[in-house]
Amino acid sequence: MGIFGFFKKKENKENLDQGLQKTKSSILSRLGKALMGKSQIDEDVLDELEEILITSDVGVNTTIKIIDRIRNRVSKEKYTNTSELDYLLRDEITEMIRENLNTENEDFYVPTQELNGRKVPHVIMVVGVNGVGKTTTIGKLAYRFKQQGKTVLLGAGDTFRAAAVEQLRIWSDRVGVPILEKGMHVAPATVAFDAIKEGIDGGYDVVIIDTAGRLQTKTNLMRELSNIKKAMGKVQAGSPHEVLLVLDASTGQNAIQQAKAFTEATEVSALALTKLDGTAKGGVVIGICDEFRIPVKYIGVGEGIDHLQIFNPEEFVGSLFKSNG
Ligand code: GDP
Ligand code: MG
Repeated sequence: MGIFGFFKKKENKENLDQGLQKTKSSILSRLGKALMGKSQIDEDVLDELEEILITSDVGVNTTIKIIDRIRNRVSKEKYTNTSELDYLLRDEITEMIRENLNTENEDFYVPTQELNGRKVPHVIMVVGVNGVGKTTTIGKLAYRFKQQGKTVLLGAGDTFRAAAVEQLRIWSDRVGVPILEKGMHVAPATVAFDAIKEGIDGGYDVVIIDTAGRLQTKTNLMRELSNIKKAMGKVQAGSPHEVLLVLDASTGQNAIQQAKAFTEATEVSALALTKLDGTAKGGVVIGICDEFRIPVKYIGVGEGIDHLQIFNPEEFVGSLFKSNG
């Protein structure tokens, strides 16, 4: 790693620590209180820990698993000193996430693909409820790809809200990547179709398609998403290559409900969890990693263009449970 890489890594770590500050200080201050005057990890400590994890939106099922793991570890290794609890938590939670899913800690793999001798783009469709951060995440994602020397085209498929197309255009200007838009009221499937066509004609590496996130019934959601996917498949077989579901971490358990609804409605290949900064509910990321077998690929830790990070379980859990200083 060169000197630039080193500083970039340091900056990412600072953004992560900063972004998780609210969740972290809420967990650690309560943990500190629970452990006050205690030297041994006993059942009382585990009870307190259970409550702390549940109220940090880790979720009941996942919390029970974590407590069981800690209890086993304590009895097996005779690790009973309370000063080791944060270390045990980091170790066991990371291990639990790693056992459930294989996150690669890398950006979406964008292979050079050909169809009938022509280069074709890697297509990412972005889905999720209104307001979770889809458009923002698309902008940040486009920036990441651009930094890696890839050519990116955005498709403005949220045609239901006047401001939606405009907002994506602002991101396209900010990042310096083109956008394909057809204004409002056009069917999202039409935009998706045209964007991929343009992606092929223009020889782009990546096409990222925004979609509308109207709260709707499961059947409608399924129909809408499948229409868009069908249109994509018509212009380029195998498209979309990724369906990225964006969830707002600050909504806590609600994010889990949304993940359930979307994964039942369509095949989701990756998750992005946004707005970890400014919430004490960051524990939900752990619950989602445990409950779904879909990798959390990205996390949003701020509104800035470089506030989208690759999710790395060790770093995330490390930042969450390590006291400063
Ligand atoms: P969409 O409706 O799903 O497209 O959501 P938007 O991309 O429009 O985002 C909704 C709001 O959330 C905007 O004000 C964004 O700036 C904000 N937002 C998105 N991601 C993050 C994040 O990681 N941190 C913070 N603090 N705000 C975010
Ligand atoms: Mg949007």
